[in-house]
Amino acid sequence: MPADQLIAALDTDEGGLRHLRRLPPRAAVRTPWPEWVPEEVRTALEDTGITLPWPHQAEAATHAYEGRDTVIATGTASGKSLAYLLPVLTEAAADGPGRTLYLAPTKALAADQARAVAEFDVPGLIPAIVDGDTPFEHRQWAQRFANLVLSNPDLLHHSLLPRHRMWRSLLKDLKYVVVDECHVYRGVFGAHVALTLRRLLRLAEHYGASPTVIAASATAADPARSLSVLTGRPATEVTVDSSPSPGAAVALWEPVTYEIDGEPQQASTLSETARMLAQLVRRGVRTLAFVPSRRGAEIVAAEAKSRLGADPAAGRIAAYRAGYLREHRRDLEADLREGRLLGVATTNALELGIDVTGLDAVLLCGYPGRLASFWQQIGRAGRGDTEALAVMLAKDDPLDTYLVHHPEAIFDRPVETSVCDPSNPYVLAGHLCLAAEELPLKEADLASIPGSREVADQLVEQKLLRRRAGGRYYWVGSERPQVALRGSGPMGVDIAETSTGRLIGTIDAAASHRLVHRGALYLHQGESYLVDDLDLEEGLALVHAAKPPWTTSAQEITHLEVLSTRERLEMGDVALSLGEVEVTSCVISYQRRRLPSGEVIDTQQLDLPPQTLRTVAVWWTVDPASLEGLRDLAGSLHAAEHASIGLLPLIATCDRWDIGGLSTAAHMDTELPTVFVYDGHPGGAGFAEQAFRKWTGWLRATRDAIAGCECTAGCPSCIQSPKCGNGNEPLSKPGALVLLNRLLEAGEGPVTAAVFDQRPAAPEDDLWPGDF
Ligand SMILES: [Zn+2]
Ligand SMILES: [Zn+2]
Repeated sequence: MPADQLIAALDTDEGGLRHLRRLPPRAAVRTPWPEWVPEEVRTALEDTGITLPWPHQAEAATHAYEGRDTVIATGTASGKSLAYLLPVLTEAAADGPGRTLYLAPTKALAADQARAVAEFDVPGLIPAIVDGDTPFEHRQWAQRFANLVLSNPDLLHHSLLPRHRMWRSLLKDLKYVVVDECHVYRGVFGAHVALTLRRLLRLAEHYGASPTVIAASATAADPARSLSVLTGRPATEVTVDSSPSPGAAVALWEPVTYEIDGEPQQASTLSETARMLAQLVRRGVRTLAFVPSRRGAEIVAAEAKSRLGADPAAGRIAAYRAGYLREHRRDLEADLREGRLLGVATTNALELGIDVTGLDAVLLCGYPGRLASFWQQIGRAGRGDTEALAVMLAKDDPLDTYLVHHPEAIFDRPVETSVCDPSNPYVLAGHLCLAAEELPLKEADLASIPGSREVADQLVEQKLLRRRAGGRYYWVGSERPQVALRGSGPMGVDIAETSTGRLIGTIDAAASHRLVHRGALYLHQGESYLVDDLDLEEGLALVHAAKPPWTTSAQEITHLEVLSTRERLEMGDVALSLGEVEVTSCVISYQRRRLPSGEVIDTQQLDLPPQTLRTVAVWWTVDPASLEGLRDLAGSLHAAEHASIGLLPLIATCDRWDIGGLSTAAHMDTELPTVFVYDGHPGGAGFAEQAFRKWTGWLRATRDAIAGCECTAGCPSCIQSPKCGNGNEPLSKPGALVLLNRLLEAGEGPVTAAVFDQRPAAPEDDLWPGDF
């Protein structure tokens, strides 16, 4: 069914369509095979239907073949795999000694890639998957024989590099390292992967190899620079996409509003997504709905099913997310690929390159937080010559509301650069220890990472490294340090059924306090569970199935201390600062809220330990003398804080959930009315820093979002926050506008900038040796 008809079918009497953009179809351009591709490889590819490459594939492949680190950054389904496989297949067909290590961010993607590679009947190619599930004998076989090892950074970090002597035959002949979906490596996770890759390249060099890095990325700004940050070496980029596309109709949708007591209220974005998913599935339209939270994905799938009632199509809808057991996820992927499932509500776990082509439509339940993700998700739809349909439904928050009313901020803006900071001392210290344990560190190893020399010297003081004559650093600690690549803590929390012990899923330790505390209602695959007990020592939450007519929300208190100031902008009565802070937060209680009204039934106390975070924050202060006549100062600051957190993803590559905030009418360190916005990761992830660098654009969009909202007293589309630990009290919408206007005016006057020579405090003893 044509996209226009589908859009008409999705619309309601009230109308929610705010903008429709047509992405024109693109005809395929073909180019001859590069001369260096041997006949056997051409034939093998032609047998699978690939007659000639597209120019971007040939160009990227040739760069890599000639030994230049290369990143290919083009759209979804633009055949990036072929670009990195051409040199790999060529080496195999020539029976060359060169071997390839392919790294995907998820096991699922590596498995998918292995299946795709198996379709090419190229002589000499011996692929093998090696991940955490691979039995020892298979690993041994792969170490000796495979010339294409498909794996992930976690295996590299936890197994391959520590046991590099066993992997010596792979490392000494390592010719290519493929880094697939490399835009995923951003923030703190990106910093960990960057340092893991550098450890790999260092060991390969030690064994006499000098591999070329070939990376594939979603469309991104400055991809060569991003790859350079990951590897510490220069890189070339290929960004012009010459693959064909049927075009797409992209609709921006604002769920309809209705009035309660004169205040506009928005229909729930989750319900609207479920409604559209049900309508599309009923028409046989193969649809993927991207939902921002695991819990949301469960709700959308369950509601879409129930809307279809007795319709047999109801059985062809499912939810998909990380945290399910592996076998279950593989089954869902196969059902989706082979068309047994028509509609899937998923978290961004399915955003990456897993081959689920053949979809007609995608629904985005809310803006995914980054333009790169937006385009990646939109690109999932489209098969054959039929125009694809993509609908983004605005969530009830300031950023989404701003975007559906300012479509140019989506369609006419370059995709953001992905940021990571391998010199984050919290991340770097652990990897320096690991690297030294793998092979003594030389001065040259430290040269490419700013600040690494200082961190290494601190490790010497802590008696973890020893510096010998000649400038080498040796590992002298007793146990190999534990470094978690993903998440802040090494331990996830398992969720299991109390009566049977059956494992239901896992959750990261940081989120467990909020989501699986005793008494919490937890959703999984459409089923709801009540948490009987959370044992933090064991890392275990015990639950039983239950369907109460209420839900729960956790309440948190937060305390913030300024440790040091790096930079400050003085602008009359106003100042903006960037520096290190320590945030201590504690989930103290939870509320039970009646469904669907959200009315509070009661509040239950909890006895959970506080969680401490040392990180980087941006904060602004205002002289209270200049605010005379402002009635609700605390509410004004709080409202400005919420809205500014909501808009930060517009300028930094973060999610709202990556950042925290705190506002107070008189902070003990600044002694002034202050709003803090901080990175939610130890040591910072670069988001607060970007907020500081681009503060006028950030706060101007914040002001415009509040001013442009139709409500009178504030609503979730402007100043209310879904993650407020204080129940969204107090809040003042007019006061927030006064404050933000004051800041923006001050920024137009004289600005005195100061840079302080205070480097981040190094990780102290409390981080060693067990806690990282
Ligand atoms: Zn509002
Ligand atoms: Zn709040």
